[in-house]
Amino acid sequence: MARNSQKHMQKYDCGLDNGAVRRRSRNKVRILEYFKATDLEWEKWKWHLSHIIRDAQTLKQMVRLSDQEYDAITLARRLKIPFGITPYYLSLIDFDSGGMRDRAVRAQVIPSRHYVEKLAASKQRQDHSGDFMLESDTSPIDGITRRYPNIVILKPVLTCPQICVYCQRNWEIEDVYSPQAVLTKDKLENALQWIKKTEEINEVLITGGDPLLLSNARLEGIVSRLAANAHIIRIRIGTRTPVTLPQRITESLVRNLARFHSPGKRELIIVTHFEHPYEITPQSMEAVQKFRRQGLEVYNQQVFTYFNSRKFESCLLRQKLRLIGVTPYYTFNTKGKEETDDFRVPIVRLIQEQKEEARLMPGTVRTDEIVFNVPGLGKNYLKAIQHHDLISILPDGKRLYEFHPWEKKLSLADTYLYKDVSIHDYLLRLKTDGEDIADYKTIWYYY
Ligand code: SF4
Repeated sequence: MARNSQKHMQKYDCGLDNGAVRRRSRNKVRILEYFKATDLEWEKWKWHLSHIIRDAQTLKQMVRLSDQEYDAITLARRLKIPFGITPYYLSLIDFDSGGMRDRAVRAQVIPSRHYVEKLAASKQRQDHSGDFMLESDTSPIDGITRRYPNIVILKPVLTCPQICVYCQRNWEIEDVYSPQAVLTKDKLENALQWIKKTEEINEVLITGGDPLLLSNARLEGIVSRLAANAHIIRIRIGTRTPVTLPQRITESLVRNLARFHSPGKRELIIVTHFEHPYEITPQSMEAVQKFRRQGLEVYNQQVFTYFNSRKFESCLLRQKLRLIGVTPYYTFNTKGKEETDDFRVPIVRLIQEQKEEARLMPGTVRTDEIVFNVPGLGKNYLKAIQHHDLISILPDGKRLYEFHPWEKKLSLADTYLYKDVSIHDYLLRLKTDGEDIADYKTIWYYY
C-alpha cells in the first residue's frame, strides 16, 4: 500500500521540485522581458497589481494558449466576466498549453467556454441573484454575513488579485482588483459598530474578496478595531495572496498583524487557499514562514475539484502543505453551480479519497475536515453519516441527497436536496485523461 501511494504521488509535480523551480525562473525572465521590468520590481506586490494580465491577447505573448482558452478568455472579457492573472501566478504556468503538469493551475484562472456561456446566461435571467450560498439571507448589515450564531464574516473588499473560476462569491465580485470593490467608510464603520454591540459574536473571519489587497494601515485599522472588543477571541484573515501574490506578505505587514495575536486572550490566524502542489513554490513557502516566525498559524482551505481529485493528488498537496508550515483545515466539495460543472466531482469521490487515500497518511497530515457547504445551511460534515442521506438514484444514474441542517436539534430549518454529478461521467472523464479507472472502482460503494 505504501509503495502504491508513492507511485501515485510521484506522478504529480510539486512547485518545490528542482525542475519546477528552474522552469519558473525562466518564466519570470520571459515575463519581465515582456514588461521591460526588473527583478527589483518583481519583488514589489504593487508592481504585480499594476501589471495584472487581463486579456487573451496580452497573455498569449507570454504563454501558449489553446484555441479554446483564447476564445473563452476573449468571450469572458466581452461579457464582462472577471478575468485576470498576476505576473507572479503566470510564472507558475508552463509555457506550452495542454500538458497535465500545470493543468490545475491553468484551470484556476482560465475559464472554460462552458463556464463563460453559462454564467453570462444566468446573469441575464431576472430571477437569478447569483447568491448561490444565500449569503444575503444571513446578512444583518452590509459587509457582514452571519451564518453561525457566534461567528461572522466581514467583507471589507470584494475583489481579488485574480479570480478562481469556481469562486462562490463571483456574484459579488465585479472585476479583478477593482478599486470600487472596497466597502465604503460608512458601511465599514456600521459593520464594526454592529460587531461591537453584538456581544455573542466571538469570532470574525475577515475575507472578501482578499483583504490583503487593502493597505497595511487600513487592514491593521480593521483588525485593531475588532481586537478592541473583549468578546472577540479569534480573528481569522482569509487570503490567497501567499499563492497568487506572495510578495504581499512583507515583514512589516506580518509584524504589525502579529501584535494582535495575544496567547490566552485572542488568536489571530491566517487561512489560505492552495489548490494543488504545483502552486507551492519557494516564494509561497517563504510567505507562510514569515507568518509562522511571528507565531501566527496558517491553515488551508482546499476546494476538491476535478483538477485535484485524482488518486493521491490531494494527499500530496496535504503532505507538501505540512512541510511548508500550513495545516490542512477544510476540504470543500465543489458547489452545485451549473457554470462550474467542469470542476464538480461526485461527493463519493471525496469520501473515497478520505477512506482509502488520506487514511494512509499520518494524523498530522490528514487534519482537514471534509465538508459540503450547503446553500443556506452552512457546512455539512461529510464524515458524519447521519448528516446526509442518499434518497434516490435517478434514471440517468445521478444520486440525489438530502442534507440535514447542522442545527436541526436546536431549531427548525429545512433540509436541502442536492442532485450530484454522475459518477459514471466522472470516471469516463478520468479515463479520457489517462487514468486507470480500476483504481477508482470502489467508488460505487460509498454514499
Ligand atoms: S481567492 Fe477566494 S474570494 Fe478570491 S476568487 Fe478565489 S475563491 Fe473567490
